[in-house]
Amino acid sequence: MAGSIDLVLGDITTLEVDAIVNAANPSLLGGGGVDGAIHRAAGPELLQECRFLGGCEPGEAKHTQGYRLPARWVIHTVGPIWHGGRRGEEETLRDCYRHSLLLAEELGATSVAFPSISTGVYGYPVERAVPVAVQEVRRHVEQATLPQRVVLVAFDERTHEAYRDALGG
Ligand code: ADP
Repeated sequence: MAGSIDLVLGDITTLEVDAIVNAANPSLLGGGGVDGAIHRAAGPELLQECRFLGGCEPGEAKHTQGYRLPARWVIHTVGPIWHGGRRGEEETLRDCYRHSLLLAEELGATSVAFPSISTGVYGYPVERAVPVAVQEVRRHVEQATLPQRVVLVAFDERTHEAYRDALGG
């Protein structure tokens, strides 16, 4: 049976899921936005572990423990910086979702939550990013047994509405 896709408006750091995805920067050494919130909630051990990962390329994904988070793992992925759409941004964004989901599957995560990757500081237009996210998540849950539940987390009303439209109601 295909897994479920849920939509939540709120703070990803509070969610009781096996893994949360972090929209990180290539250094993996912390930043603002959702990255800052995840590091604050997880505690300083998260940064310690990230130092050993040696950074992350855009579109790739690496995992750490979740430390003080309710989530057991954090999957760090690096989204594309928006440059107008002609520099392979969409493909890189697809890779972020695809690789994060494959890593969640490998870890044995039954549930995973995603923030809206790249649509904050990285400037990817929400209306363009959301359909890409939904398409890649659907593709994965239709084919794979894990994760059984994917939660798409919107942090603001506009993103929430875009997800509601893309999910069809
Ligand atoms: P990026 O650099 O990939 O654009 P940002 O962290 O700037 O990453 O923003 C990505 C998305 O995460 C934005 O929609 C932002 O509003 C959202 N966000 C910020 N903090 C949180 C949080 N605590 N939980 C969920 N989403 C968040």
